[in-house]
Amino acid sequence: MADGAVAFRDELFSAGLLIETGVDGLYGRSQIFESVVEAIDRLATLAGAHHRATVVRFPPIMPRAVFEQTDYLRSFPDLTGSIHTFRGDDREHARLLARLDRGEDWTASLTPAAAVLCSAACHPLYPTITGRLPAGGRVFDVYGYCFRHEPATDPTRMIAFRMREFVHVGDPDDAEEHRDQWITRATDLMAGLGLAVEAVVANDPFFGRLGTMLANNQRDEALKYEIVTPIAGERPTAIVSCNLHRDHFGGPFEIETADGAVAHSACVGFGVERIALALLRTHGLDPDHWPAAVTGRLWP
Ligand code: ZN
Repeated sequence: MADGAVAFRDELFSAGLLIETGVDGLYGRSQIFESVVEAIDRLATLAGAHHRATVVRFPPIMPRAVFEQTDYLRSFPDLTGSIHTFRGDDREHARLLARLDRGEDWTASLTPAAAVLCSAACHPLYPTITGRLPAGGRVFDVYGYCFRHEPATDPTRMIAFRMREFVHVGDPDDAEEHRDQWITRATDLMAGLGLAVEAVVANDPFFGRLGTMLANNQRDEALKYEIVTPIAGERPTAIVSCNLHRDHFGGPFEIETADGAVAHSACVGFGVERIALALLRTHGLDPDHWPAAVTGRLWP
């Protein structure tokens, strides 16, 4: 990882904006950091107000069975987070404590729970809308914590972060239009905050040999665009993603359009921590000294 990213993280720690936990990618947030995140969230709300979206919020964990149907394990097994709990008896508890006291791996005493950590904020939504959609489809507003196991010293690569999304579910053309309109809208929104942004076709880190094929397919079909901006790493960082899923969720979760076809979906996802970090990197660590044109938009 570039030294610039490590130095930036040290600055964030020193300024108290991020709070160290001892685990790379896992941080506390200060009041100032959160005020920036909340302002970005409000800005996203305004930008998507015309959707009159249905607001839904899910916990950062989701049913294991739903997770299996999202196909995430096939594409990104290395980013997955599973929840395990203790369900043993007194003897197993004693064994666990003995392992703990000896500094050994006590997690061997745990078993998988019925839930896993969310990889994307929109994943828990799809099984809740199984069935027929109204004409014109529906738009949902989702916001929640996601987990992706990619611990790094670059502060923009957090293992726990929030994603604010507008998800369209409906006809194939409408889903594609949702994605395309948000590429423009979100690019303008981020540029309006003084960020040097560019929309590019995404190159997701699909896992393994099968992953090369999935990555080529994603690129060739241009399913996912990212709005990137230089933050602290060697390459620009994605701060917003605009995804066309086609029938990836409509199929397994049996979501139908008004005329009975398999529904297509698309989502825009604002990586609110990354946007906050881009602002802090671009305009300085003290929002009180940011350009008036930027603070005027964030705190009108
Ligand atoms: Zn999504």
